[in-house]
Amino acid sequence: MIQASHPKSVDITAQQMIFKAELDKVETVWDRHAAMQPQCGFGETGLCCRVCWKGPCRIDPLGNGPKVGICGATADVIVARNLLRSFCVGASAHTEHARHIAHTLYELSQNNAPAYSIKDEAKLIDVAKRLKISTEDKEILDIAKEVAEVSMADFGKHHGEFAWLNAVLNPLRKEKLASLGILPHNLDSVVVNGLSRTHVGSESDPMNLLLAAARLAAADVSVMAMGTELSDVLFGTPMPSLTTANLSVLKKDAVNIALHGHNPLLCEIVCDVAATMQEEAKKLGAKEGINIVGVCCTGNEMMMRHGVPLAANYLSQELTMITGAVEAMVVDTQCIMPAVVETASHYHTQVISTMDDNKIFGATHVSFHPESAVEGAKQIVRLALEAYKRRNPDKVDIPNHVQQAMGGFSYEAITAVLKKLDNENPIKPLIDQIAGGNIQGVVLFGGCSNTKVVHDFNYVTMSRELIKRNVLVLATGCAAGALAKSGMQTSQATLDYAGDGLKAVLAALGDAAGTAGPLPPVLNMGSCVDNTRAVRLANDIAMTLGVDLDMLPVCVSAPELMSEKAQIIGTWAAVIGLPVHIGVVPHVTGSSLVTKFLTQDMEEVLGGKFIVELDPIEAANKLYGEIQKRRQKLGI
Ligand code: SF4
Ligand code: SF4
Repeated sequence: MIQASHPKSVDITAQQMIFKAELDKVETVWDRHAAMQPQCGFGETGLCCRVCWKGPCRIDPLGNGPKVGICGATADVIVARNLLRSFCVGASAHTEHARHIAHTLYELSQNNAPAYSIKDEAKLIDVAKRLKISTEDKEILDIAKEVAEVSMADFGKHHGEFAWLNAVLNPLRKEKLASLGILPHNLDSVVVNGLSRTHVGSESDPMNLLLAAARLAAADVSVMAMGTELSDVLFGTPMPSLTTANLSVLKKDAVNIALHGHNPLLCEIVCDVAATMQEEAKKLGAKEGINIVGVCCTGNEMMMRHGVPLAANYLSQELTMITGAVEAMVVDTQCIMPAVVETASHYHTQVISTMDDNKIFGATHVSFHPESAVEGAKQIVRLALEAYKRRNPDKVDIPNHVQQAMGGFSYEAITAVLKKLDNENPIKPLIDQIAGGNIQGVVLFGGCSNTKVVHDFNYVTMSRELIKRNVLVLATGCAAGALAKSGMQTSQATLDYAGDGLKAVLAALGDAAGTAGPLPPVLNMGSCVDNTRAVRLANDIAMTLGVDLDMLPVCVSAPELMSEKAQIIGTWAAVIGLPVHIGVVPHVTGSSLVTKFLTQDMEEVLGGKFIVELDPIEAANKLYGEIQKRRQKLGI
């Protein structure tokens, strides 16, 4: 198995801060991972059940211990039930995210959210049309109101069309899911239904539990599209722009504010407000004013829309503070380690939580609401200014390896470039290059970072291996962060790593886009909620060819996956017909039925499946093999 150059991270700025953490005697996620070893084998295999208080029960897969729980639940039932429960949590996180955005759009349409505006009217009209809302002779705020109402109705709808599902799934896939009886009818009740099935004494048919998981996944892809597309309406649809990434983006002579989490409702306004308070920072001696940087998917949101530098992805979040130069770590929701408060206590950093339903114990809480967003943002920036006065210069050590990165490749940005090659039929040049072999296929990297894998290593290794073989790489979430920090989102990466065919295509696209060189071989499509941008592109290709997604040479990889959100994203990718690689062992191996379904049988039923492979080179080989199989099926 190929080895990484460092035992914890291949991000050189992270390596430097891991070393500083040791000197500063600050514990990091890697120390806690080491302290947790050995991890529990029952949990690792999914064989532990805590559903009722007769438990916990655990199944002994190898020895002479119990083969069923106290109630008689088998290993298959326990594993399938645990999996469905995890997916319900992942889908709930996406649902709450989209609900906030849709609710804000509604409040805006009622003039109750003065800090927000419709930044992309064309996108609003496009969304309205796809939701089958007539836009003729209507004022823009009236269209916004209808779009918000139709979206919010999708959460609890019991009759009629599931509007976002219709906008996201192509007709062939909808037919397929309907024929299997797993077409969801709304967002909220599929989660409630999933949870209710896992109550003690409820469903004990593992296959039916897995089908419920597939139905939930189809609802999840729909709600994620809602979150992304309504965010574009409110904050602008991303277009390519150059920025920088890794911990070097922090500045010694600035008040550094790290925005972390997922929801653009907060970070957009903090950016706007900080721009108006630069002079206050300079008066305190911060010659470069206020420097906003991103962490995790809030970082991706800001990088995509405004070119804000990205400091860290999930695993390196604590390391931002170990530079000793972060005045405020402002968090909203999801993927925020509770440990950030302890890390901050070693420095002057103020951790500020902002959402009333996502408080962080030990953090200062500033209650953030769309109706009073500007006031909330001002309070946050003032806390950062105060913290700057407490900064200890002796503790400051910022890495100096600035890495350029190009972000902003939304569906609209990619089609705008393709339109320059064929205005009438923009998807055709892409199809021609795939058919001709200059692009062998496409791999979408998504997902998190995970202490079970050397930080960023799988992303960098796999993407280079695939690009060399003329596979175009798309990326979202912490995958996009890893590939931004490692230089894979630059023209130079195309020159250094792409195969000849891909290099020629990216050079032509770079010319069309007017960039200084070829487009990067990794196109950053945004945060983890933004994966549906890639689905829209794939559907365009499939529908032009008259086939479903299960025929396309397109794969998904989550080689450092961790969160429940990422688990259900991988699942919907398989449910819509794509092979999905994961680089960590999922907690299902205690059930041969569940394991076999996910890695084999699912392909026959739905066209997609999971491929578990821990070695990144071998994983790239397997995905390339899947791409070739699909090219053969298409006859290209
Ligand atoms: S539901 Fe059954 S297997 Fe689970 S904890 Fe209760 S008794 Fe044990
Ligand atoms: S990709 Fe995973 S770790 Fe990163 S922000 Fe999204 S869910 Fe969190």
